[in-house]
Amino acid sequence: MTRQIPAPPKVGMVSLGCPKALVDSERILTKLRADGYDMSPDYAGADVVLVNTCGFLDSAKEESLEAIGEAMAENGRVIVTGCMGNEADAIRARFPDVLAVTGAHQYEDVVGAVHDAAPPARGEFVDLVPNLDAMGGLKLTPRHYSYLKISEGCNHRCSFCIIPSLRGDLASRRPDAILREAEKLVAAGTKELLVISQDTSAYGVDIKHQPREWHGREVRAHMTDLARELGTLGAWVRLHYVYPYPHVDKVIPLMADGLITPYLDIPFQHAAPSVLKRMKRPANEAKVLERLKGWREICPDITVRSSFVVGFPGESEEDFQYLLDWLDEAQLDRVGGFRFEPVEGAAANALDGAVPEEVKEERYQRLMEKTAAISAAKLAAKVGRILPVIIDEVGEADEEGSIGATGRSEADAPEIDGNVFLRDVPATMQAGDIVRVRIEDADAHDLYGAVQ
Ligand code: SF4
Repeated sequence: MTRQIPAPPKVGMVSLGCPKALVDSERILTKLRADGYDMSPDYAGADVVLVNTCGFLDSAKEESLEAIGEAMAENGRVIVTGCMGNEADAIRARFPDVLAVTGAHQYEDVVGAVHDAAPPARGEFVDLVPNLDAMGGLKLTPRHYSYLKISEGCNHRCSFCIIPSLRGDLASRRPDAILREAEKLVAAGTKELLVISQDTSAYGVDIKHQPREWHGREVRAHMTDLARELGTLGAWVRLHYVYPYPHVDKVIPLMADGLITPYLDIPFQHAAPSVLKRMKRPANEAKVLERLKGWREICPDITVRSSFVVGFPGESEEDFQYLLDWLDEAQLDRVGGFRFEPVEGAAANALDGAVPEEVKEERYQRLMEKTAAISAAKLAAKVGRILPVIIDEVGEADEEGSIGATGRSEADAPEIDGNVFLRDVPATMQAGDIVRVRIEDADAHDLYGAVQ
């Protein structure tokens, strides 16, 4: 007698927003796979569609609502989760037929909603699906790099930000749990770990840096301990969302020793003291220019990336000029610029001194011109050097049989920084390979070279 293996229900996923939201999507999908669900690459084949939304800016909310609308039109069985899930009323007002709305990090709720909408196919065969969690989980990023989320929430109250009201206060993960996840990811092929949180330098403050045992050693829930241990795993380790607290100085020698990637992503947002004060930014009292100088003395190859907001309420022309002059001194390697946009529910909306849109735009252009010039000079100085490059993509052979590839140096985080474009790579090259590249040319944001 033959027995029918029940067809597993299929889940479609639309994941919007930042890397932190992407990690949430990966966790949800990992759990659903372990529960016996299949993934559907399109709306038509899905029994239910999950939309993981972003609610950070009004423009992101609009994009989230559009994505929900598309999923409703194309499939009709939709569960909404993520940051915008905290605004269930607004979502239901526009889409009364969504099956469920759950907030950010409510993994059990969202998985429960999927179970209700499309019950899992249980049985002796289905229950034998491998333990994906033990294999490093299901990933939405390419196999060779992974985001590693070390905490949720944030203890700061920056006036332009609603993350703490969406995600609550800082809640750090145990260091042994993070290291276990990182070890599994590396065993599953990850070559680059991207450490993320809302404030990586605050990691462990909420749990009093309580140590846990890891491979026979005590590891504190502290950024320095964690970075040191992650550095032993054999992957590139990139720290994102770090604030310049004094203890950050302690990770720079780990970079100089080659243990972690010489790269710090510090979202300064501004430099003028009065603007930083109105923004209520953490660690703004630190003498940042002196600290940067000290870091470069210890680790000359360190790359510092940052982002800045122009047109914050009350930003005067002098404040903006202060920022440009500060950038001349700071010589940051990578800079992202944003025009201030009010976010519903943010304290900054009550501040006076709104900056007119055309002034914001003009300042934004000046900021980008300044930072592009600094970046171009920094990249030009790399011409002639041999740098390690991680390969993201290998192209097809052209008519002459030559193959190109796109990769990144240690100075480039995926998605947000530049690329290294390689010519004439061997046909055996694969994404995730780390190769030595002679840099032959540079422009404002990217490098060009050939494998040594
Ligand atoms: S540090 Fe400030 S901007 Fe970053 S999540 Fe916390 S409150 Fe928001």
